[in-house]
Amino acid sequence: MKREVTLLGILHGGIVLRNGCILVTVTGELQIFLRCGGRGEFFAESLAFWKNASIIVVMIRFRIFGIPVEIQPWFWLILALLGSDFGQKGGNMNEALAVALFVIAGAISILVHELGHALTGKYFKAQPIIVLHSFGGVAVFPYAKFTRMQSFLMIAAGPAIQILLGMIVWAIQYKYQSQFSEAFAGFLDDLWLVSIIWAILNLIPVSPLDGGQMLYQIMGPKRRRLFLQVSIGLAILFAVGLFLITRFPIMPIFLLYYAYQNFQELRNFR
Ligand SMILES: [Zn+2]
Repeated sequence: MKREVTLLGILHGGIVLRNGCILVTVTGELQIFLRCGGRGEFFAESLAFWKNASIIVVMIRFRIFGIPVEIQPWFWLILALLGSDFGQKGGNMNEALAVALFVIAGAISILVHELGHALTGKYFKAQPIIVLHSFGGVAVFPYAKFTRMQSFLMIAAGPAIQILLGMIVWAIQYKYQSQFSEAFAGFLDDLWLVSIIWAILNLIPVSPLDGGQMLYQIMGPKRRRLFLQVSIGLAILFAVGLFLITRFPIMPIFLLYYAYQNFQELRNFR
């Protein structure tokens, strides 16, 4: 039994890949759910399995360019779930490896995005903190006071640097693909794809996405109400459009949730 377990990520609970299935526990005992990669099946399994699994309990914290970074346990889980659906699975690559490579690529890409915000904020004399949480990342600037132009540049820098990363990785992949191993080529594909898609989705002009925050900085605080109305309209439009085009519900669900959040804020104006 133990031989089937590959420790993929590090969580306070634990995330383990077993024959391409992802299993999640809290405190290493209570099972929340498990899922087989790509097929979307949920099923239960005996807890006895877990007694053999080695699960490390940790929240990762480090500094990069002097900026504190915290990676919360659920960050790895959501990436692994996305990776089980979208990771490069072609050829002979073992699915656990493919998901692990997707997770690493996603973590690098999202960290670079947040560093774009954080380093620009730091340039404007703020003291940023980066947190990678369950549904992505955030760069926060406690006590910072930015002008509207500074805010706009700080927000734009995240998607901008991420698109740049995606383009550079794509160029390297395109030029040297034949010399790379299957795993490394798959990793690079994940890295540029995640970077471009993540950046573009973040540029949708809906609050609180980067695109929405940029639009707000352009419109200004006096037009907050109008901004929220525009944001709600665009959120619904993009949710429907993206669903019709991609048939994939995650981003549309987020957009509708943002529309609801914006609507709640709008109601407080009355
Ligand atoms: Zn961002």
